[in-house]
Amino acid sequence: MDLTVISTYRCNSRCSMCNIWKHPTLPVQEIGLSTLNKLPDGFDNVNITGGEPTLRNDLLDMCEILYPKAKKLEISTNGLRPEKLETVIQRFPNIKIRISLEGFQQTNDRIRGERKGFETKMRAMARLKELGGTDLGFASVIQDENIDEIIELYNLTKHEKIEFATSALHNAFQFHKGDNWPYNRLRVARQIETLITEMLRTNSVKSWFRAYLNLGLIRKILGQKRLLVCTAGTEFIFVDPWSDVYACNVRPDLLIGNLEEQPWDRILSGDKARRVREQVAACAQNCWMVTTARTAMRNPRVPSLPKLRPLAWVINNKLRVTMGMPIRFQKYINYVDIANDSTLKRKDYSSGDPIRRKLSPKSAQPYDEYGPFNNR
Ligand code: SF4
Repeated sequence: MDLTVISTYRCNSRCSMCNIWKHPTLPVQEIGLSTLNKLPDGFDNVNITGGEPTLRNDLLDMCEILYPKAKKLEISTNGLRPEKLETVIQRFPNIKIRISLEGFQQTNDRIRGERKGFETKMRAMARLKELGGTDLGFASVIQDENIDEIIELYNLTKHEKIEFATSALHNAFQFHKGDNWPYNRLRVARQIETLITEMLRTNSVKSWFRAYLNLGLIRKILGQKRLLVCTAGTEFIFVDPWSDVYACNVRPDLLIGNLEEQPWDRILSGDKARRVREQVAACAQNCWMVTTARTAMRNPRVPSLPKLRPLAWVINNKLRVTMGMPIRFQKYINYVDIANDSTLKRKDYSSGDPIRRKLSPKSAQPYDEYGPFNNR
């Protein structure tokens, strides 16, 4: 199983696609080290995220606890506090670090509301490399505003010999956003085709499977069904800053338990978990986020291997690209079935449910205080 620890809802970025920063947690409320100690060993991937995890003064202590519990420990960060990451990398050079980067200077700083964000991230990455980090990379949320820079960003990561992770705009209760829609779905989706082809051209097996992940992003952007069924609550799970355990970070009604109040085993084997898994099986939300899609691509029996479907796709299309043949995207994507605008019927999980109201007193600011429609 993969685990995401949402360590804090404080954030020092001001992203247009995420309103977490408007709803910060109080440090005193945030999941403590003793609660993290209750987690068992044997996770595949554990991701420490936020908000911004480097705002936690005990980030290194969190790593000390979680590192032995996972095959791979990951930190998702905005990279604006490089000194915190440097300390982590000096202690654990093989921790995976993904720094959010939405484009080059102007684009990144505009989308993420950061001052000198691009420069700071580039400097942070150079320093982490210098210190011997072995699993470093940038992560971008593909959207209308940065799609024209995505290939160039990918080339930059190839040049720097680091990884490049992509996701698409999503709505989720965690983000306090219900209006994260691409404006020109077809334009964004078509440009991802180029990225997929480029990834298959490399000699990196990781990039080939990332190409499949990007194929899933095209479906997501066009408003179509997922490539693989969602395994929330079974193969991946989220713990939030209040120690609440959720099957995923999109639907607040998929709350399973609380790690401070209950033992981990009981949370996973209880009636609530069983009911939530039934809800997941019937979920039509069709998310395709890195954390959730990557898990769905893995073979549940041998997690180091992929499922048959992604494997077959990769072999087939790697061969085509190697032989100079184009990928037949129309075989996997129905370009006629495109949701043109945000009238696509999807449930907006960003407000109005009982769990959000339950959580609101814990938040430093009211949950249901939304800004104007963000048309960037
Ligand atoms: S598809 Fe449904 S259950 Fe799966 S991550 Fe998305 S909202 Fe959660």
